[in-house]
Amino acid sequence: MRILVLSDLHANHTALVAALAAAKDRWDRAVCLGDIVGYGPDPNEAVSAIRKLGASTIRGNHDKAVCGLVATEDFNPAARAAVDWTRAQLSPDNLAFLRDLPQGPLETDGLVLVHGAVFDEDEYIFTPAQALESLLDSASAFTFFGHTHHQGGFSYQESRMEVLTINLPEGESSTALRLDPQRRYLLNPGSIGQPRDSDPRAAFAIADLQAATVEFWRVPYDIAGVQERMRAAGLPPALANRLTYGR
Ligand code: ZN
Repeated sequence: MRILVLSDLHANHTALVAALAAAKDRWDRAVCLGDIVGYGPDPNEAVSAIRKLGASTIRGNHDKAVCGLVATEDFNPAARAAVDWTRAQLSPDNLAFLRDLPQGPLETDGLVLVHGAVFDEDEYIFTPAQALESLLDSASAFTFFGHTHHQGGFSYQESRMEVLTINLPEGESSTALRLDPQRRYLLNPGSIGQPRDSDPRAAFAIADLQAATVEFWRVPYDIAGVQERMRAAGLPPALANRLTYGR
């Protein structure tokens, strides 16, 4: 079973369409690690697409904020403005879908899905020290997380941690990681809609536990077109500008 792992779409439907075109016929089931909305110009299109894919989905902090499940006082002003704008755009049906999303960790098809960390959906995992608890205590040896918008992750065996850095040069769209059955993995597919690891291309992963591989993908999309729609919608300019750099 090949599992398409999507995360942090952030209402960038153009990036999602490009990712799905690249992944066509390469997966059997889809999962989503949250933050379907926030920042981007297409909240309804992004939510509808995830619903249509039938993806097993957990909520992210932006999904929660848009539904009013958490206050936005921890959000920076641009993110808060995007939350308010998004809430006003969403159809009642799509808003209800977001509100009902389960909290991670969610076990499915041998994987554990979390938005931030295993014991805190809002925690960022950037460093090995931050990764350790989730690596050790996850219910599966194969855990996927999002939230940081950095593709890559960590693996662990007998108190030795390895940092997995993915660096796909322009012109190369994927690289395969071979899974070692002795190790535990905490992997981030990267962000579809707002990458922050200095590669502006849409990021996702395809996991195949039977074949013991995880493919990490990067796909170009029409960034300028998305930026134009963000500006036209009145979303904060900084949110549009950063898409150029993937930062
Ligand atoms: Zn996010």
